Amino acid sequence: MKKWRCQVCGFVFDGAEPPGKCPKCGAPREKFEAISDEVSALIEKSRYTNQLHMDLSYLMERVKEVCHKGIEDQLDPPCVQLFEKAAAEAHQIQQMVKAELQGHMNKGKWG
Ligand SMILES: [Zn+2]
Repeated sequence: MKKWRCQVCGFVFDGAEPPGKCPKCGAPREKFEAISDEVSALIEKSRYTNQLHMDLSYLMERVKEVCHKGIEDQLDPPCVQLFEKAAAEAHQIQQMVKAELQGHMNKGKWG
């Protein structure tokens, strides 16, 4: 689908024509520039993967919440150790997801 980018805030709009104003920042229609077919295809292709990365980061946040409950529970030292290790791993995975998404943005695989 044809895409348009707001030159003020970067919002990407899907449509045959640009919107009347930017839904995110309110910039007028004239601030939208057409995105090339090549870049549009790249954005389309990466949307699914980007969503999976965001889902993974969300799940790691849930893992950290569970681990913090387990740490507070303090049943015995091996349990606390396991929860601490899992929380640290989940945090590291979130950081890797962020780095990967930053790479996608830098290559135009975002929008
Ligand atoms: Zn905007």
